[in-house]
Amino acid sequence: MSHRYRAYPTEVQAQVFARHCGDARWVWNQALAAVKAHAEDPTARFFCLTTARREIGWLAEGSSTVQQQALRDLAQALRNAKGGSHRFPRWRRRGEGDGFCVRDVAVHKLNRTWAEVTVPKAGRLRFRLSRPLPKSYGMARVTRDTTGRWHVSFAAPQPPVERVPTGAVVGIDRGVAATLATSDGELLRGPKLRPRERRRIERLQRQLVRQKKGSVRRRRTKDQIARAHAKAVRRRNDWIEKRTTELVRSYDLVAVEDLKVPQMTRTPKPKPDPDRPGAFLPNGARSKAGLNRAILDQGWGRFLRRLEDKAAASGVIVVRVDPAYTSQTCAHCGHVARESRESQAAFSCVACGHKANADINAARNILARGLALVPTPGQGARPGDRPARTSPADDAGSENSRRQVAA
Ligand SMILES: [Zn+2]
Repeated sequence: MSHRYRAYPTEVQAQVFARHCGDARWVWNQALAAVKAHAEDPTARFFCLTTARREIGWLAEGSSTVQQQALRDLAQALRNAKGGSHRFPRWRRRGEGDGFCVRDVAVHKLNRTWAEVTVPKAGRLRFRLSRPLPKSYGMARVTRDTTGRWHVSFAAPQPPVERVPTGAVVGIDRGVAATLATSDGELLRGPKLRPRERRRIERLQRQLVRQKKGSVRRRRTKDQIARAHAKAVRRRNDWIEKRTTELVRSYDLVAVEDLKVPQMTRTPKPKPDPDRPGAFLPNGARSKAGLNRAILDQGWGRFLRRLEDKAAASGVIVVRVDPAYTSQTCAHCGHVARESRESQAAFSCVACGHKANADINAARNILARGLALVPTPGQGARPGDRPARTSPADDAGSENSRRQVAA
């Protein structure tokens, strides 16, 4: 959880920041290359910032605080990857997630609307107080988004969601495109691109293809596309904040499908062209679906992270379950058959005749699996205890827990 504010650097400051971003990116990539080399050849040496600064003039001129922090960031990213919560760190490219960190932050409040934070070699950076400042800040991150706007954010602990225990439990299925289905039979529709936005992005993308690489016009088109996307992403993030708060407020336990398990493919597969090896035929995927999917698929990871952060701070259990076959299993009788999935939207059990919305049926299966992973109440488990993910309770225990948690 972090508090983010729009920052307004002067032109000179923006130049210094661009330089900091470049330094942080360079250090990150050098150190990452060394880590990769070391994995192949254990005699390869790790990256040493002190040596590099001694040998490379332009690096020594940059801020050592910013550069050191880039190394710490990478170390943390490697630890996260090792722990399995994040993917392996990737190369940083210019224009993708530009940013740098400042430690030992000094914030100075000017008035109700404006505050300043001190950045090495750049002096005080003004930012707009669009929300209250966190009570404490250890570190600040200054970032530039794809549209060239600067922000400053402070890491802050997630405050708990105000709630009373409800005894209610829920399973959530990630349905087609923009929808989440709950085991209570609700369909939560996420925001999509508006038709006008979609047409505009499509037009810009066609324009981009025709423009010369490296040209000013191409650069401008790229910026326009990024800005249009950023708007939709903000709307989506807003939606995620609201839905995750509602879920944490309403339920003592939320079961969701685990991200690490590969999603069943919902994108039409590329069709190889039989006449030309290596070439592909158009697969009929509509760009409309594609654009919306891009924005929402990237949102699922965020949705999970926000849900888990808020739940952990509020005494709510989130269980991740393996979603395999949840869309083909009858939530009523447990029969598994691909034929029961009548269509993308409809489930109709070939064994018992149970009919339901396919995603809601899947959400019920996800809930059942989640409950099976929770220790039986009465054996010391309370809401707020983290369930062991890998030790499913025995059958009788899970039946028991289902009744009690649901009661
Ligand atoms: Zn059935």
